[in-house]
Amino acid sequence: MAEFSGAAAFCRKQNNNPVGRRKIDRHQDARLKKRTFTTGSIDIHSNAPWCIRPMSSRFHSQLINDPFGDPGVYIDFMFGKRAILFDLGELSNLSSRKLLRVRDIFISHRHMDHFYGFDRLLRISLGSHHTLRLFGPEGLVDAVAHRLQAYTWNLVDNYETDLTFVVAELGGDSDLRTVEFHCRKGFRPQDERIAKLERDKLPTDESFCVRTAILDHGIPCLAFALEEQAHVNIWKNRLKEMGLGVGPWLTELKEVILRGEGDDTLIQAEWREGGRDQKRTLRLDELRGQAAIVTPGVKIAYVVDAGGTPDNIAKITALAEGATLLYIEAAFLHKDEALARDRNHLTARQAGEIARAAGVQRLATLHYSSRYEGRGEDLEREAQAAFQGDDRES
Ligand SMILES: [Zn+2]
Ligand SMILES: [Zn+2]
Repeated sequence: MAEFSGAAAFCRKQNNNPVGRRKIDRHQDARLKKRTFTTGSIDIHSNAPWCIRPMSSRFHSQLINDPFGDPGVYIDFMFGKRAILFDLGELSNLSSRKLLRVRDIFISHRHMDHFYGFDRLLRISLGSHHTLRLFGPEGLVDAVAHRLQAYTWNLVDNYETDLTFVVAELGGDSDLRTVEFHCRKGFRPQDERIAKLERDKLPTDESFCVRTAILDHGIPCLAFALEEQAHVNIWKNRLKEMGLGVGPWLTELKEVILRGEGDDTLIQAEWREGGRDQKRTLRLDELRGQAAIVTPGVKIAYVVDAGGTPDNIAKITALAEGATLLYIEAAFLHKDEALARDRNHLTARQAGEIARAAGVQRLATLHYSSRYEGRGEDLEREAQAAFQGDDRES
């Protein structure tokens, strides 16, 4: 079961209660902020009233902090004993248990509210055998090297474990420079390599895909989209109706479908029945959509710290296209657009318009400017109204 949380996460398609007109507790964001900062490690999302549990997926995503806090999203892969992070700001709302599941960290840029949590992650992971992969914009490798070299590592060659950071930074020419830092080697940089990024896809392991776009925030800032592979579900009762049995051939069938092979591809079905081997050859289109149903994977996009320029808006819209859920900053009210432009941030209205243009299913806003403290619902309402195609309230 997928789940995501956020102070502003709503489904555009459930339009009978438009969020722009939804009754909002006017003190909600103030109370939320208070809870976050007075309780420290409380999971602010565990029973939050704005928590929505949408469709079937193995991803469970949540905002790490309230929308006025440091931006960041934690995504747990429910069945894989692992998690990823979008951004690495304040992490004290995440328990050690949750942080120890993290293997991949995607850092938009190195303004302090997006990178401050590196030391907490290091402290908690030290002594583990984990390999942590960090992805970010140009300069990330040296930044991590400096952070690691700020400490003394004279005792680590006795460690039984070898915590490793694999840090990859993306340059404007699509060059991905990767450097490794091993605990037992005192975290000195080693194994540098450079590869070209293909189709904006970061080199994670094959169980998931993260695409990226370089946005302009006065400095390069990366946006990300996590894409889940489609699922193929086999309907055993339909197989039976077709006179077919189960066997290892179904694994092959799923792979053929996920590769998108043509209708006339031949499938060898082999199974045992009544103590005898059975065999039949079928065309793929006899099975696909009949006994094998394809469910598209979930897509979660994450966009923060970008000016509302036409180029940025086009890139974000393309990256987030068709997303199940878009986390996007709504830093300023649109009446303060000049300020937003000056600070290279999006307004709430721009965030909502982008979500609408990208055809996303759900919009979750974050990274509100502190100038609106106590008025978070204004930002939320403006973004959701634009998402619904109704800008009259903003
Ligand atoms: Zn920034
Ligand atoms: Zn920021």
